Amino acid sequence: MYQGRSRVVIVSGLELWQWCQEARSQAAEFNVPLQEIDWLLQTVADLEKLELRLQSFKTRSQINMQIPLIQLTQLWQRRLEERLPVQYIAGITPWRNFFLQVSNAVLIPRPETECLIDLAIAAAHDQVDPRSISEIPEQWADLGTGSGAIAIGLAEVLTNATIYAVDISAAALAIAQKNAQTLGWSNRIHFNQGSWFEPLQALRGQLNGIVSNPPYIPSQIVPQLQPEVAHHEPHLALDGGADGLDCIRHLINQAPDYLQPEGILLFEMMAGQAAEVRQLLNSQGSYQKITIHRDLAGIERFALAYRK
Ligand code: GLN
Repeated sequence: MYQGRSRVVIVSGLELWQWCQEARSQAAEFNVPLQEIDWLLQTVADLEKLELRLQSFKTRSQINMQIPLIQLTQLWQRRLEERLPVQYIAGITPWRNFFLQVSNAVLIPRPETECLIDLAIAAAHDQVDPRSISEIPEQWADLGTGSGAIAIGLAEVLTNATIYAVDISAAALAIAQKNAQTLGWSNRIHFNQGSWFEPLQALRGQLNGIVSNPPYIPSQIVPQLQPEVAHHEPHLALDGGADGLDCIRHLINQAPDYLQPEGILLFEMMAGQAAEVRQLLNSQGSYQKITIHRDLAGIERFALAYRK
């Protein structure tokens, strides 16, 4: 897979245009969205969106590419035949207002998960006097950080918070750490390898907020997901056990021990899980102000609760 390197390969506009024509007809044949070609070329070649859209790059004598065309062709074949996600080919994905490096060691951060950060901002403002939000040092956790998306998103908006990013996978944590470093957040994000709360023992009772996009897909559904997901994304980040709620139950049961009074628990879930999740939060007994929030597609996707 392609990972941002510095080597530059030069191709002619015409060569790349021919590559594009071929890729377009294959995309149509294999039912892959055509926009993926332009997006991929923007990430591996020094091409602007508009040049791609107008195909004006065809007459350029030189275009710098980060990989040779032959390698791009090989990767594109994997997109078509193995349904390898285009983000893993490019090695990056856009998320909120930044780009994250991704590999198949991490789940590709989804657009709907971007809402978790907005909900965290709103919840943090509800929790304290908004005027003091940037003055009080806070401690937040992102459990199951994967690419580090949530931890980085939180670091950006909670300007005085230290974020503890936890993942059981060393390979995922290495990517999260690299992303934090590239985007300039290493000083406020601490990385800890381990299972959920395990590495955060010293923070019992001290966290202002816990945010997570845990695995929540029922085990028997995982193999039926679209092949891009089922065959390439880490099942560790998807499989939530028999009913999909194993990790969510663990979060709900453990979080009260780690949150300050009024501390926030905020996590993502699957369509159809909201009623049961609300019930789990209620019956745990330590939470108040329990709310369910929809994503932009109108799906009940997020649960928010405050420790009593
Ligand atoms: N939203 C992801 C999907 O649809 C699943 C992410 C997760 O389990 N946390 O594949």
